[in-house]
Amino acid sequence: MFNRDLVLKQRAEILHALCSSGSTEHLERVLDKLLSQGELIWEEYQNIQVQGRALYTNVRQLLDLVYTKGEDTCEFFLAAVKQVLPEAQGAGITFSGCCSNLEKTGESQSTSSQTLLTQRASLVTKLQACIDGALEALVESGHFTSSDCDDVLLPIHTPSQQARRLLDHVRSKGESAAKCVLHYIQESESSLNQEKWTLSKEFSKYQKKLSSSVSAQSCFLSSYGRTSHMPLDEIYTEAQLELANDFADLSGALDLDDIVGAAGTVNDEADTVLVSGEAGSGKSTLLQRLHLLWARGVSLKGFLLLFPFSCRRLNSEQRELSVQELLFQHCCWPDKEQEEIFQFILDHPHLILFSFDGLDELKQGFSDEHMVCCPTQRAPVNILLFNLLQGFLMKGVRKVVTSRPEAVGPMLKKHLRKEVLLKGFSPSGIDCFVKKHHRDPTVAAKVLESLQMNTALLGLCHSPVLCWIVSQCHKELLGCGEGSPQTITDVYLMILQHFLQHQSPLKSTMGLGWLQEHIKVVLHLGQLAFEGLGTSCYIFTDTDLETCYVTEKDICMGFLILSKDMSSTHSKRYEFLHVTMQCFFAALFIVLSNNTDRSTIHKLFEPQNMKGTRLSSNCFMGCIPSSDQQEQGLEGESVIAETSNLQITATFVSGLLSQRHRSLWFHCCPSAGMEKKVRQVVKCLSKGMHKHFKSIPQPVQGEKKSMHAMPGFVWLIKCIYEMQECKIAKDAMSKLEVDHLKLTYCNIGPVECTALAYVLQYLRNPVGLQLDYNSVGDVGVEQLLPCMHICNSLYLRNNNITDEGIRKLIAKGIQCDNFQKIALGNNNITAEGAKQLAEGLKFNHSLQYLGLWGNKISDTGAEALASALEGSKTLVWLSLVGNGVGSAGAYALAKVIESSASLEELWLTENCITKAGVECLIQALERNTHVKSVWLRNNDLSLEEVEEMTRCESRLIF
Ligand code: ADP
Repeated sequence: MFNRDLVLKQRAEILHALCSSGSTEHLERVLDKLLSQGELIWEEYQNIQVQGRALYTNVRQLLDLVYTKGEDTCEFFLAAVKQVLPEAQGAGITFSGCCSNLEKTGESQSTSSQTLLTQRASLVTKLQACIDGALEALVESGHFTSSDCDDVLLPIHTPSQQARRLLDHVRSKGESAAKCVLHYIQESESSLNQEKWTLSKEFSKYQKKLSSSVSAQSCFLSSYGRTSHMPLDEIYTEAQLELANDFADLSGALDLDDIVGAAGTVNDEADTVLVSGEAGSGKSTLLQRLHLLWARGVSLKGFLLLFPFSCRRLNSEQRELSVQELLFQHCCWPDKEQEEIFQFILDHPHLILFSFDGLDELKQGFSDEHMVCCPTQRAPVNILLFNLLQGFLMKGVRKVVTSRPEAVGPMLKKHLRKEVLLKGFSPSGIDCFVKKHHRDPTVAAKVLESLQMNTALLGLCHSPVLCWIVSQCHKELLGCGEGSPQTITDVYLMILQHFLQHQSPLKSTMGLGWLQEHIKVVLHLGQLAFEGLGTSCYIFTDTDLETCYVTEKDICMGFLILSKDMSSTHSKRYEFLHVTMQCFFAALFIVLSNNTDRSTIHKLFEPQNMKGTRLSSNCFMGCIPSSDQQEQGLEGESVIAETSNLQITATFVSGLLSQRHRSLWFHCCPSAGMEKKVRQVVKCLSKGMHKHFKSIPQPVQGEKKSMHAMPGFVWLIKCIYEMQECKIAKDAMSKLEVDHLKLTYCNIGPVECTALAYVLQYLRNPVGLQLDYNSVGDVGVEQLLPCMHICNSLYLRNNNITDEGIRKLIAKGIQCDNFQKIALGNNNITAEGAKQLAEGLKFNHSLQYLGLWGNKISDTGAEALASALEGSKTLVWLSLVGNGVGSAGAYALAKVIESSASLEELWLTENCITKAGVECLIQALERNTHVKSVWLRNNDLSLEEVEEMTRCESRLIF
């Protein structure tokens, strides 16, 4: 296809690709390249880049212009987009035939002004490193006035925009100014090459002090607290990391250095990398590992100083501080020459790294209201933090921040360099962790074996914190046989029992009496946890402990650990082993105590109802900002984080009140009160579900009734699962009447799959289940099997599924009679998986749509599938886009075309089919009039071949 047509046809996609980040940077880089090439003249550039006009309008204007300028300009334009946004190709934009080399070589420029244009792209990059010096040179030589400089340096501009502004000003000043700036850049480049920072003695001393303190803070894993001092080196297990943006290149796993590295950068101008993951997914441990490797000089070698912060601890900083005070007082104090050291930090931001763990635990929600740009200006620490993350403070210093996903809203997202998702352990990660935890290989083997036999528990172990608990309690696990843990509550009860019985000097009580024996400790810790949740308090002072009657003996049980602190505070402070443990104790308190407010359960299950009412802190009120604050524009992100803790607590409350555990409470509290709480929870769950179902819109005529899960739906399902009472699940599902259930981007992992399948199996009518863009994985696929009989279509695109998952799926799924559609695009399926799928398909007589886009099934896989689908009477649509399919595969697929009376569309774009393969397809099409189109873009074909074959068969689309 001609480049002009490509520009026209893909207008919407290109527009989206250039504008979706919200930053003008992509457009400007494309414009730089077009200017360099002479494809745009200066006046045209100015007409497009109108300051203050909407970005979309500017890009539309450019699209119009390049289209009217013709084929050549379109070719250069596409090449420029491809260079600026290499991911765009993965996202579906075709650049076919556009030249890839935009550099002009061998041409001598007659004037410096011309050089400014022809080298614009690289000059913008170079100038960013020396903009102040360049301005100084221009002022000194009399070309620039101070108001020119102010105009260039306006803080609203990003460094690259400042560089472009400088070039534009220089251009308007004429040839001599152009010469001056080029000369300056050349000079500073050669001196930069020779630069070796000479580090003063005091700086080196400080560096050592900081790194040894970081090393000391990070070499042991604190969750092992009292039970053993576990060196991080011995237990650290790689968890799964993914880039958040789906267009990013997913091939190859990310490693720790990639977190700060270039991979997946969406905004070059931003400094902040977000690592997001659920509670217990290992965010703090990952940072701890990064810190340790930096301190040892193994990783992050480019950074001379690393300043680690914990948002949990920053909460207790009441003073207003400057950045300098924040760094030195909270991380490491320089013994001498503080000013000199801080000046070095300011002068070399690219050599410095800050990390902030647990943004979700910061009491104040992210706000961009108060701007602080000066590193010596004092401000409340949350304001400092927000300005650091946005890059107003310490621009150029790389910042890594961790948070639960719900706690980061769009206001902060637009300041992110990239987002990395932490997805817990992979199946081999679980294996590796268990083996590291148990040095005795026989014990490790036994634990792993028992996990394989209990896939619900195996699913839970994807979450590192649960994997840790399960490993920690291996004796209980191996001894419990039939009643082995199924739910998250079961796992936490297991560790409760484990700690209580192992730390207590009393002889362990057999049977169910263990809780009764320790009821006081549980209630004391429970109250501490409960009140803490109500006030966003995760670190407790002696006074807090005293208020809840927590004694030294209670601390010895091991649920509380000493809080680590980089700054030297005098008094001891404590925190729960993990925030989920605090939620669990809060839940125990709600269930076991007679002292909670009657409305507590109701409020817990409907946290949104709490807004605007002021009650005492033990009713979870402290965490909810008043409505005034919200009106002032707070994003309320901390509220979201709090809601997430309350939801975890509610999940535990549901589990603890399950029929299965009631015998445990029998001796501890009056059963009438307990029954009442159970009824309250069941009512809340049913009401919650009802609310979701009521929100389902009536279908447009001719369309299916579809429900897109709202936040909270998966959580309610998980609560129902924790209760393990099929009547509740049945009741809930009997009222759901939809044809299609959409749960895309809902953070669904194996644990959620178990709960979903448990509940959805009771649906009355078949449903399409859409789970695209989650982390279902192979274990999750297995967990979904119990509800497969009720699914008529299954969407599992982007879910990290491998051949193993396919093997599990076909064991049950596809043989179901009503199975019509399966979408498995962008997973890790190879020829082996395709063969398994083909085996399953042989027994299926209902499949209409099969999508395998973006896998690696190759010719062998395509052949296996083709042989299973030959003669299909139902298949309408098949996509094998981007699968490394060559002509052998095409040959086999030609037979499907020949023999199928139902097939309408075959998608083979982005493969490596050659002319011979296409000829087979053409021959098959001659015998089939039903097929409407065969898509063959981006295969191994020359332009001439494409033209010739298009003439032959108009249903082929290139
Ligand atoms: P998060 O910060 O996401 O809530 P943590 O990092 O605190 O999670 O992890 C909870 C617990 O899980 C840790 O205390 C540790 O026992 C275990 N854990 C997490 N990640 C790892 C890992 N990569 N290797 C070994 N253990 C881990």
